[in-house]
Amino acid sequence: MVDSDPAPATRTSNPWEGPTDWGFHAEEPQGALNGGVSHWCYWWNDDLKHRFTEAWGQDADELADELADSYAYMWPWFLGDLLSSRSPETAALVRSLLAADEALLERTQQTNSETVFTMSVIWGAFETVRERRTWEAPRWRDCPICGERFYGGDPPIWTYRQFGPSRYCTSCCFKARSGDDSVRRKGDVIDALTRLSSACDTIPPQAFAFLRLPLDLSPERRDAIMRGLIGMPPQERVKKVLRAPDWLAVLQTAGLVDSTWRPSRGTWCRAKDGHRCRSLLEKSIDDWLTAHGIEHECEPYWPKDEELNPNGRQRADWRLKSGAFVECAGMLEEADYRQRFERKVELAKRHGIKLYVLAPSDLMNLGKHLGAELPLA
Ligand SMILES: [Zn+2]
Repeated sequence: MVDSDPAPATRTSNPWEGPTDWGFHAEEPQGALNGGVSHWCYWWNDDLKHRFTEAWGQDADELADELADSYAYMWPWFLGDLLSSRSPETAALVRSLLAADEALLERTQQTNSETVFTMSVIWGAFETVRERRTWEAPRWRDCPICGERFYGGDPPIWTYRQFGPSRYCTSCCFKARSGDDSVRRKGDVIDALTRLSSACDTIPPQAFAFLRLPLDLSPERRDAIMRGLIGMPPQERVKKVLRAPDWLAVLQTAGLVDSTWRPSRGTWCRAKDGHRCRSLLEKSIDDWLTAHGIEHECEPYWPKDEELNPNGRQRADWRLKSGAFVECAGMLEEADYRQRFERKVELAKRHGIKLYVLAPSDLMNLGKHLGAELPLA
């Protein structure tokens, strides 16, 4: 069985010399890139190591375990992104221990202390966590899309970030991101859009090329989405071929959205059951509820609350049969939207209402979030 083949003899950080290996092997103390990472961290000394281990908390251990279980040998690379939000206490302790070392920036020859923080977290966590557990090492695999064999440590970090744990070869990941430039006929463009849409089980966003595959999709669904992405012409081509001024017009032309018009913010469109939705995100959620037989009412009023909803006029997006409310959080990056949103979360808490908050990234796996609401078969 090819899966048990050993790692290649030459593993290198130079793609011209053989398969690269971005993986951190639990049993190899020199880290990824055949020791390349330990060379980057030449300034990491026993004193830093000792203080790092002391700062490292249980919250961080839990995050590391979660990542190691999902991403195996790639896990340390993702810790730099996630530690600050997921394990803020450990992140703050690590930052202060680095700040206490006055000569550190000079020793690292870095100008940005955040870069040093990220490098420290990746390297320090690898050293600390490998002392208590192991994880899966990269192995040879067959890419389910093109059938080629590839070494699991070879695809670059961004492919794991975007397409999830090791499954696709580097070449297929690049194709999924860049799409198929040979698709130029109107009918073919519409077919490609329709295929991607049904693979995602939702309307493809304009930035489909940067779509991230959720971790908890089945391998078959991940493959279907990868195939959908690989078959898609680039976004600008889609608009040009369909003579569509914007993405909405694209979706209308392809028949993925009907009778759409626009207010000042967002989009008005009709869900399959006729409900009026303010955005494509809302439409996708409403259609999902309908498709799964979950009874829902649109725009219910929130209970009156002297402080948070004094005139009783605030509305949620949906109320489900169980009494739970659903809010779709499409623009959390905008400050006043976010504030209004936080008030709703507080309202729900005060009045004992179960509230589901759905963001665009939840769209591809609504079953995970709303599974408890599914009617019993
Ligand atoms: Zn492939």
